[in-house]
Amino acid sequence: MSDYIRTLLSEKQEQALVHAISQAELHTSGEIRIHLEKSIGNSSAQQRAKKWFGKLEMHKTAEKNGVLFYLAIKDRKLAIWAGEGINAKVPANFWQEIINLIIAEFKVEHFSEGLIAGVEKTGQALGEFFPRQDDDIDELSNEISKG
Ligand code: CA
Ligand code: CA
Repeated sequence: MSDYIRTLLSEKQEQALVHAISQAELHTSGEIRIHLEKSIGNSSAQQRAKKWFGKLEMHKTAEKNGVLFYLAIKDRKLAIWAGEGINAKVPANFWQEIINLIIAEFKVEHFSEGLIAGVEKTGQALGEFFPRQDDDIDELSNEISKG
C-alpha cells in the first residue's frame, strides 16, 4: 500500500523525520504529525489536510495545538493544517513561510530535508507559545501517517 512512499523517502529518511518530530516535541506541548498519501483526487491540498487533521483526531489535543503537514506525493501538493490554539498565536503569514521553506527544498528533490526543516521551524514556534510542561503527554504518535 505504501510503496509509493519509498519514491519520496527511504526508510532511513522516514526514521530521521520521526526523530525530528520527537526532537521538536521535547520543547513544546504541541503535537506535530505528517500525513503522506498518493493523490489528493478532486480535493485541494487544504481540504485533504483538514480532513486528515480530523481523522487523526488532531483537534482533540488539550491546547488545540496540533500541526499536520500533509503531502500528496504524486501530485506534489503540500498543505499545513493547524489547531485553533496555535493559529490564534502565530502571525498570519507564518504557515505560508514554512510552506515556502519546504518547497524550496522540494524543488531540488530534498524531500526529507524540506520536511525536517518545516518540522523544526514549527517546533520552535510551538515551543515559544506552548512550552513543554514537566507532565507532558505525547498526545499523538510521532510516526508518519500514510493513507
Ligand atoms: Ca505532547
Ligand atoms: Ca507526538
